[in-house]
Amino acid sequence: MSRKITGATLVAGVAGSPVRHSLSPIIHNAWIEAAGLDAVYAPFTPPAEGFRRFAEGLRGGAVRGLNVTVPFKEDALAVSDDLSERAAAAGAVNLLVFGEDGRIRGDNTDGVGLLGAFAAQAPGFDPAAGPVVIVGAGGAARGAAAAFVEAGAPEVRIVNRTVAKAELIAEALGPKVRTYALDAAADAFAGVSAVINATSAGLLDASLDLPLEATPPAAVVMDMTYKPLVTPLLARAKELDRRTVDGLEMLIRQAVPSFEAFFGRPVPTSMDVRALCLAAIGGQA
Ligand code: NDP
Repeated sequence: MSRKITGATLVAGVAGSPVRHSLSPIIHNAWIEAAGLDAVYAPFTPPAEGFRRFAEGLRGGAVRGLNVTVPFKEDALAVSDDLSERAAAAGAVNLLVFGEDGRIRGDNTDGVGLLGAFAAQAPGFDPAAGPVVIVGAGGAARGAAAAFVEAGAPEVRIVNRTVAKAELIAEALGPKVRTYALDAAADAFAGVSAVINATSAGLLDASLDLPLEATPPAAVVMDMTYKPLVTPLLARAKELDRRTVDGLEMLIRQAVPSFEAFFGRPVPTSMDVRALCLAAIGGQA
């Protein structure tokens, strides 16, 4: 890719630490190029304690916006002047848009990405058809839980190592959300229509040996982790003949509304960013 940077080039990016291996620059720059935009999407690594100062310095729109990833999502919520309805419901922000009026708008696109990934890879899945279980209670789990409540799930079960964090989500989202400790996961998995892993547990971490056999045969298993594309959890789900949804599809689909917010136009459909990402992570289609 050889693109000219001009005096009019629009800038957006992703802030995280580490951000070196983020796939977001690959996705957004491919879309920018396919759309013929004079724009660039760059990675930023603010200092550990310096995110708020960094974001405050961008007020006014010199940088159009930022995707925000670990460990800055809480800071992103705190620095937002206005929250979209879905970010307020989730209590989590993964997208900041810097308005020309100086205000910072916080949004959350994880839920859209998650439900879009289910629609793409588990056709016919109905989020309202049965209880779903989310493992984890961090920012990604909050976005997922809010999206499923909004989509009409009759019950959202949060399983987390630290139950108190799961309870905070239940307090925020209301009586449809029930909480479970990790060692009660088998109870939580009974009768669900989907299981979603939203933890950042190490890929080979044996402590996260989830009891997938407790799910009904029709349950769909989703893992937000996408390196490797087929995680140990998804491999186990396939062994059990469960349908699966991968984290890469979510990542790409959560990027769509970000691109639209940064550049004010739809994502070009001509570019297969999944293939580019797969090449970058060494996975197969
Ligand atoms: P957070 O740091 O906010 O939350 C991490 C969660 O993982 C917590 O609930 C934590 O439990 C749990 N956890 C961590 N280690 C373990 C362990 N060893 N055993 C059990 N539970 C553990 O992270 P996020 O919510 O922002 O992200 C979670 C994951 O989802 C990350 O891997 C991230 O990369 C991925 N993600 C993927 C996206 C995609 O588009 N595919 C989008 C967003 C996130 P506790 O509360 O007890 O500490």
